[in-house]
Amino acid sequence: MTILNGKQIAAEIRSELKAQIATLLNQGKRAPKLGIVIVGHNPASETYVANKIKACAEVGIEAVKIAYEDTISEQELLAEVHKLNSDTSMDGFIVQLPLPKHIDEQTITSAIDYQKDVDGLTPENVGRAAKGLPCIVSATPRGIRELLSRYDITTDGKHIVVIGRSNIVGKPMATLLMQKHERGNATVTLCHSHTAHLKQICLSADIIIVAVGHPGLLTADMVSEGATIIDVGITRVEDPSTERGYRLAGDVDYEQVAPKCAYITPVPGGVGPMTIVSLLQNTLQAYSLNSTL
Ligand code: NAP
Repeated sequence: MTILNGKQIAAEIRSELKAQIATLLNQGKRAPKLGIVIVGHNPASETYVANKIKACAEVGIEAVKIAYEDTISEQELLAEVHKLNSDTSMDGFIVQLPLPKHIDEQTITSAIDYQKDVDGLTPENVGRAAKGLPCIVSATPRGIRELLSRYDITTDGKHIVVIGRSNIVGKPMATLLMQKHERGNATVTLCHSHTAHLKQICLSADIIIVAVGHPGLLTADMVSEGATIIDVGITRVEDPSTERGYRLAGDVDYEQVAPKCAYITPVPGGVGPMTIVSLLQNTLQAYSLNSTL
Protein backbone atom coordinates (compact mmCIF):
# COMPACT_ATOMS: atom_id res chain seq x y z
CA MET A 1 0.00 0.00 0.00
CA THR A 2 1.32 3.43 -0.95
CA ILE A 3 0.16 6.60 0.77
CA LEU A 4 -0.47 9.37 -1.76
CA ASN A 5 1.41 12.20 -0.13
CA GLY A 6 -0.48 15.30 -1.24
CA LYS A 7 1.48 17.47 1.14
CA GLN A 8 4.78 16.54 -0.49
CA ILE A 9 3.50 16.73 -4.09
CA ALA A 10 1.90 20.11 -3.37
CA ALA A 11 5.25 21.37 -2.00
CA GLU A 12 6.97 20.20 -5.20
CA ILE A 13 4.40 22.02 -7.35
CA ARG A 14 4.75 25.18 -5.24
CA SER A 15 8.52 25.11 -5.92
CA GLU A 16 7.81 24.80 -9.64
CA LEU A 17 5.33 27.69 -9.53
CA LYS A 18 7.75 29.82 -7.53
CA ALA A 19 10.41 29.31 -10.21
CA GLN A 20 7.94 30.14 -13.02
CA ILE A 21 6.82 33.35 -11.28
CA ALA A 22 10.42 34.36 -10.53
CA THR A 23 11.13 34.00 -14.26
CA LEU A 24 8.17 36.28 -15.07
CA LEU A 25 9.46 38.92 -12.64
CA ASN A 26 12.97 38.64 -14.10
CA GLN A 27 11.41 39.36 -17.49
CA GLY A 28 10.06 42.63 -16.04
CA LYS A 29 6.48 41.38 -15.80
CA ARG A 30 4.26 41.93 -12.78
CA ALA A 31 3.29 39.22 -10.27
CA PRO A 32 -0.01 37.35 -10.70
CA LYS A 33 -2.77 38.73 -8.48
CA LEU A 34 -5.58 36.80 -6.80
CA GLY A 35 -8.60 38.32 -5.04
CA ILE A 36 -10.22 36.36 -2.20
CA VAL A 37 -13.67 37.53 -1.18
CA ILE A 38 -14.88 36.28 2.20
CA VAL A 39 -18.24 37.04 3.79
CA GLY A 40 -18.81 36.64 7.53
CA HIS A 41 -16.67 34.79 10.07
CA ASN A 42 -17.13 31.06 9.41
CA PRO A 43 -14.08 29.60 11.28
CA ALA A 44 -13.42 26.90 8.64
CA SER A 45 -13.64 29.48 5.83
CA GLU A 46 -11.28 31.82 7.69
CA THR A 47 -8.77 28.97 8.05
CA TYR A 48 -9.05 28.06 4.35
CA VAL A 49 -8.58 31.70 3.32
CA ALA A 50 -5.55 32.13 5.61
CA ASN A 51 -4.00 28.98 4.10
CA LYS A 52 -4.64 30.23 0.56
CA ILE A 53 -3.04 33.61 1.31
CA LYS A 54 -0.01 31.88 2.85
CA ALA A 55 0.35 29.59 -0.18
CA CYS A 56 0.13 32.58 -2.55
CA ALA A 57 2.87 34.41 -0.65
CA GLU A 58 5.12 31.36 -0.81
CA VAL A 59 5.10 31.24 -4.63
CA GLY A 60 5.00 34.99 -5.31
CA ILE A 61 1.30 35.49 -6.11
CA GLU A 62 -0.10 38.73 -4.71
CA ALA A 63 -3.22 37.83 -2.70
CA VAL A 64 -5.79 40.46 -1.77
CA LYS A 65 -8.36 39.59 0.90
CA ILE A 66 -11.69 41.38 0.50
CA ALA A 67 -13.73 40.81 3.66
CA TYR A 68 -17.38 41.66 4.22
CA GLU A 69 -19.66 41.23 7.22
CA ASP A 70 -22.49 38.75 6.74
CA THR A 71 -24.94 41.66 6.68
CA ILE A 72 -23.88 42.40 3.07
CA SER A 73 -26.78 42.05 0.61
CA GLU A 74 -26.71 39.90 -2.52
CA GLN A 75 -26.83 43.05 -4.65
CA GLU A 76 -23.82 44.56 -2.85
CA LEU A 77 -21.82 41.36 -3.23
CA LEU A 78 -22.82 41.15 -6.88
CA ALA A 79 -21.53 44.72 -7.32
CA GLU A 80 -18.17 43.63 -5.83
CA VAL A 81 -18.01 40.74 -8.31
CA HIS A 82 -18.66 43.11 -11.23
CA LYS A 83 -15.99 45.48 -9.89
CA LEU A 84 -13.44 42.65 -9.74
CA ASN A 85 -14.47 41.48 -13.22
CA SER A 86 -13.54 44.87 -14.65
CA ASP A 87 -10.38 45.37 -12.56
CA THR A 88 -7.70 44.62 -15.14
CA SER A 89 -5.00 44.32 -12.46
CA MET A 90 -6.85 41.37 -10.88
CA ASP A 91 -6.03 38.18 -12.79
CA GLY A 92 -8.47 35.96 -10.94
CA PHE A 93 -10.63 35.86 -7.86
CA ILE A 94 -12.68 33.54 -5.73
CA VAL A 95 -15.69 34.03 -3.52
CA GLN A 96 -15.15 31.75 -0.54
CA LEU A 97 -18.10 29.41 0.02
CA PRO A 98 -20.39 28.86 1.82
CA LEU A 99 -22.14 32.22 1.69
CA PRO A 100 -24.78 33.33 4.22
CA LYS A 101 -28.23 31.89 3.51
CA HIS A 102 -29.70 35.16 2.19
CA ILE A 103 -27.19 35.17 -0.69
CA ASP A 104 -27.66 32.79 -3.61
CA GLU A 105 -24.32 31.11 -4.33
CA GLN A 106 -25.29 30.29 -7.92
CA THR A 107 -26.13 33.93 -8.64
CA ILE A 108 -22.78 35.09 -7.28
CA THR A 109 -20.52 32.43 -8.79
CA SER A 110 -22.29 32.64 -12.16
CA ALA A 111 -21.56 36.38 -12.34
CA ILE A 112 -17.78 35.88 -12.26
CA ASP A 113 -15.96 36.46 -15.56
CA TYR A 114 -15.07 32.90 -16.59
CA GLN A 115 -11.49 33.87 -17.44
CA LYS A 116 -11.04 35.07 -13.84
CA ASP A 117 -12.98 32.17 -12.37
CA VAL A 118 -10.07 30.38 -10.66
CA ASP A 119 -12.51 28.12 -8.78
CA GLY A 120 -13.88 26.88 -12.12
CA LEU A 121 -17.49 27.29 -10.97
CA THR A 122 -19.04 29.47 -13.69
CA PRO A 123 -21.48 27.87 -16.16
CA GLU A 124 -19.00 28.81 -18.93
CA ASN A 125 -16.10 26.88 -17.36
CA VAL A 126 -18.33 23.96 -16.35
CA GLY A 127 -19.76 23.76 -19.88
CA ARG A 128 -16.34 24.03 -21.49
CA ALA A 129 -15.04 21.26 -19.22
CA ALA A 130 -17.98 19.06 -20.23
CA LYS A 131 -17.25 19.70 -23.94
CA GLY A 132 -13.53 19.05 -23.46
CA LEU A 133 -12.64 22.66 -24.38
CA PRO A 134 -9.83 24.67 -22.73
CA CYS A 135 -11.10 25.98 -19.40
CA ILE A 136 -10.24 26.62 -15.79
CA VAL A 137 -10.93 23.42 -13.88
CA SER A 138 -12.30 23.40 -10.36
CA ALA A 139 -9.37 23.21 -7.92
CA THR A 140 -10.10 19.96 -6.06
CA PRO A 141 -10.68 17.82 -9.19
CA ARG A 142 -7.63 19.41 -10.82
CA GLY A 143 -5.57 18.57 -7.73
CA ILE A 144 -6.79 14.97 -7.65
CA ARG A 145 -6.00 14.51 -11.34
CA GLU A 146 -2.53 15.95 -10.73
CA LEU A 147 -1.97 13.66 -7.75
CA LEU A 148 -2.93 10.59 -9.82
CA SER A 149 -0.67 11.81 -12.60
CA ARG A 150 2.37 12.40 -10.37
CA TYR A 151 2.04 8.86 -8.96
CA ASP A 152 1.53 7.59 -12.50
CA ILE A 153 -1.82 6.01 -11.64
CA THR A 154 -3.61 5.40 -14.90
CA THR A 155 -7.32 6.11 -15.29
CA ASP A 156 -7.62 4.87 -18.89
CA GLY A 157 -10.19 2.08 -19.08
CA LYS A 158 -10.60 2.00 -15.30
CA HIS A 159 -13.91 1.94 -13.45
CA ILE A 160 -13.90 5.02 -11.24
CA VAL A 161 -16.64 5.54 -8.69
CA VAL A 162 -17.14 9.13 -7.53
CA ILE A 163 -19.30 9.43 -4.40
CA GLY A 164 -20.85 12.89 -4.04
CA ARG A 165 -22.29 15.14 -6.75
CA SER A 166 -21.47 18.64 -5.54
CA ASN A 167 -20.70 21.35 -8.07
CA ILE A 168 -17.22 21.87 -6.60
CA VAL A 169 -16.01 18.28 -6.35
CA GLY A 170 -18.18 15.37 -7.48
CA LYS A 171 -19.64 16.64 -10.75
CA PRO A 172 -16.48 18.30 -12.15
CA MET A 173 -14.42 15.27 -11.05
CA ALA A 174 -16.69 12.90 -12.96
CA THR A 175 -16.62 15.24 -15.97
CA LEU A 176 -12.81 15.35 -16.05
CA LEU A 177 -12.36 11.61 -15.71
CA MET A 178 -14.71 10.75 -18.56
CA GLN A 179 -12.97 13.08 -21.05
CA LYS A 180 -10.82 11.84 -23.91
CA HIS A 181 -7.68 12.82 -22.03
CA GLU A 182 -4.49 11.15 -20.89
CA ARG A 183 -5.77 11.20 -17.29
CA GLY A 184 -9.38 10.59 -18.36
CA ASN A 185 -10.81 7.81 -20.53
CA ALA A 186 -12.34 6.24 -17.43
CA THR A 187 -15.71 4.58 -17.06
CA VAL A 188 -17.26 6.76 -14.38
CA THR A 189 -20.11 6.00 -11.99
CA LEU A 190 -21.34 9.04 -10.06
CA CYS A 191 -23.06 8.14 -6.79
CA HIS A 192 -25.04 10.24 -4.31
CA SER A 193 -27.47 9.93 -1.42
CA HIS A 194 -30.14 8.32 -3.63
CA THR A 195 -27.81 5.68 -5.08
CA ALA A 196 -28.98 2.12 -4.54
CA HIS A 197 -26.45 -0.69 -3.96
CA LEU A 198 -23.53 1.67 -3.20
CA LYS A 199 -21.49 -1.17 -1.71
CA GLN A 200 -21.83 -3.37 -4.83
CA ILE A 201 -20.94 -0.45 -7.09
CA CYS A 202 -17.85 0.38 -5.01
CA LEU A 203 -16.72 -3.25 -5.00
CA SER A 204 -16.39 -3.12 -8.80
CA ALA A 205 -14.30 0.07 -8.71
CA ASP A 206 -10.60 0.33 -9.54
CA ILE A 207 -10.56 3.84 -8.06
CA ILE A 208 -13.01 5.36 -5.54
CA ILE A 209 -13.14 9.11 -4.99
CA VAL A 210 -15.31 9.95 -2.00
CA ALA A 211 -16.50 13.51 -1.36
CA VAL A 212 -19.45 13.37 1.00
CA GLY A 213 -18.51 14.82 4.40
CA HIS A 214 -19.59 11.78 6.47
CA PRO A 215 -16.60 10.45 8.46
CA GLY A 216 -16.09 6.72 8.00
CA LEU A 217 -18.68 6.36 5.20
CA LEU A 218 -16.39 4.17 3.06
CA THR A 219 -15.74 0.97 4.98
CA ALA A 220 -13.42 -1.94 4.19
CA ASP A 221 -16.25 -4.22 3.03
CA MET A 222 -16.99 -1.72 0.20
CA VAL A 223 -13.46 -1.82 -1.21
CA SER A 224 -11.89 -4.52 -3.38
CA GLU A 225 -8.26 -5.61 -2.93
CA GLY A 226 -5.82 -3.36 -4.78
CA ALA A 227 -8.20 -0.42 -5.26
CA THR A 228 -7.05 3.21 -5.17
CA ILE A 229 -8.90 5.40 -2.67
CA ILE A 230 -9.06 9.18 -2.81
CA ASP A 231 -10.60 10.70 0.33
CA VAL A 232 -11.82 14.25 -0.22
CA GLY A 233 -13.89 14.54 2.95
CA ILE A 234 -12.84 16.94 5.68
CA THR A 235 -15.02 17.04 8.77
CA ARG A 236 -14.16 18.58 12.12
CA VAL A 237 -14.78 15.93 14.75
CA GLU A 238 -14.77 16.90 18.43
CA ASP A 239 -11.68 15.57 20.15
CA PRO A 240 -10.96 16.92 23.63
CA SER A 241 -7.56 15.18 23.63
CA THR A 242 -6.27 17.64 21.03
CA GLU A 243 -5.16 21.20 21.73
CA ARG A 244 -7.75 22.60 19.29
CA GLY A 245 -10.54 20.42 20.67
CA TYR A 246 -11.18 18.77 17.33
CA ARG A 247 -9.48 16.66 14.66
CA LEU A 248 -10.04 16.45 10.92
CA ALA A 249 -11.70 13.27 9.67
CA GLY A 250 -12.05 12.02 6.11
CA ASP A 251 -14.88 9.97 4.61
CA VAL A 252 -12.86 6.75 4.67
CA ASP A 253 -12.45 4.31 7.55
CA TYR A 254 -8.72 4.66 6.99
CA GLU A 255 -7.40 2.06 9.46
CA GLN A 256 -9.55 -0.74 8.01
CA VAL A 257 -9.48 0.33 4.34
CA ALA A 258 -5.77 1.17 3.93
CA PRO A 259 -4.43 -2.43 4.19
CA LYS A 260 -6.61 -3.46 1.21
CA CYS A 261 -5.52 -0.62 -1.09
CA ALA A 262 -2.83 -0.14 -3.69
CA TYR A 263 -2.92 3.62 -3.03
CA ILE A 264 -4.76 5.80 -0.52
CA THR A 265 -4.80 9.48 0.45
CA PRO A 266 -4.55 10.41 4.14
CA VAL A 267 -6.65 13.11 5.83
CA PRO A 268 -5.13 15.55 6.44
CA GLY A 269 -2.21 15.70 4.00
CA GLY A 270 -3.84 14.17 0.92
CA VAL A 271 -6.33 16.06 -1.24
CA GLY A 272 -6.42 19.26 0.87
CA PRO A 273 -2.91 20.54 -0.01
CA MET A 274 -3.50 19.59 -3.67
CA THR A 275 -6.65 21.76 -3.74
CA ILE A 276 -4.75 24.81 -2.54
CA VAL A 277 -1.87 24.34 -4.96
CA SER A 278 -4.36 23.87 -7.82
CA LEU A 279 -5.85 27.25 -6.98
CA LEU A 280 -2.35 28.70 -7.42
CA GLN A 281 -1.99 26.91 -10.78
CA ASN A 282 -5.42 28.22 -11.82
CA THR A 283 -4.34 31.75 -10.86
CA LEU A 284 -1.28 31.47 -13.06
CA GLN A 285 -3.53 30.19 -15.86
CA ALA A 286 -5.85 33.19 -15.40
CA TYR A 287 -2.80 35.47 -15.41
CA SER A 288 -1.77 34.12 -18.79
CA LEU A 289 -5.35 34.66 -20.08
CA ASN A 290 -5.29 38.30 -18.93
CA SER A 291 -4.51 40.38 -21.98
CA THR A 292 -3.39 43.39 -19.92
CA LEU A 293 -0.20 41.88 -18.50
P1 NAP B 1 -21.69 18.58 -0.47
O1 NAP B 1 -22.01 19.71 -1.36
O2 NAP B 1 -22.15 18.57 0.94
O3 NAP B 1 -22.23 17.25 -1.17
C1 NAP B 1 -22.15 16.01 -0.54
C2 NAP B 1 -22.55 14.94 -1.52
O4 NAP B 1 -22.54 13.70 -0.84
C3 NAP B 1 -23.96 15.12 -2.09
O5 NAP B 1 -23.94 14.91 -3.49
C4 NAP B 1 -24.77 14.05 -1.38
O6 NAP B 1 -25.81 13.52 -2.16
C5 NAP B 1 -23.73 12.99 -1.16
N1 NAP B 1 -24.08 12.09 -0.07
C6 NAP B 1 -24.55 12.41 1.15
N2 NAP B 1 -24.76 11.31 1.88
C7 NAP B 1 -24.43 10.27 1.10
C8 NAP B 1 -24.43 8.87 1.29
N3 NAP B 1 -24.82 8.31 2.43
N4 NAP B 1 -24.04 8.10 0.26
C9 NAP B 1 -23.63 8.62 -0.91
N5 NAP B 1 -23.59 9.95 -1.15
C10 NAP B 1 -24.00 10.77 -0.14
O7 NAP B 1 -20.15 18.22 -0.44
P2 NAP B 1 -18.81 18.87 -1.00
O8 NAP B 1 -18.88 20.35 -0.91
O9 NAP B 1 -18.43 18.20 -2.25
O10 NAP B 1 -17.84 18.36 0.16
C11 NAP B 1 -17.74 16.99 0.50
C12 NAP B 1 -16.66 16.83 1.55
O11 NAP B 1 -15.42 17.17 0.96
C13 NAP B 1 -16.79 17.72 2.77
O12 NAP B 1 -16.29 17.05 3.90
C14 NAP B 1 -15.90 18.91 2.44
O13 NAP B 1 -15.42 19.56 3.60
C15 NAP B 1 -14.80 18.21 1.71
N6 NAP B 1 -14.04 19.03 0.76
C16 NAP B 1 -12.70 18.88 0.81
C17 NAP B 1 -11.92 19.56 -0.09
C18 NAP B 1 -10.44 19.34 -0.04
O14 NAP B 1 -9.71 20.14 -0.59
N7 NAP B 1 -9.97 18.25 0.57
C19 NAP B 1 -12.49 20.41 -1.05
C20 NAP B 1 -13.87 20.52 -1.08
C21 NAP B 1 -14.65 19.81 -0.17
P3 NAP B 1 -27.08 14.41 -2.65
O15 NAP B 1 -26.59 15.22 -3.79
O16 NAP B 1 -28.08 13.38 -3.04
O17 NAP B 1 -27.49 15.24 -1.46
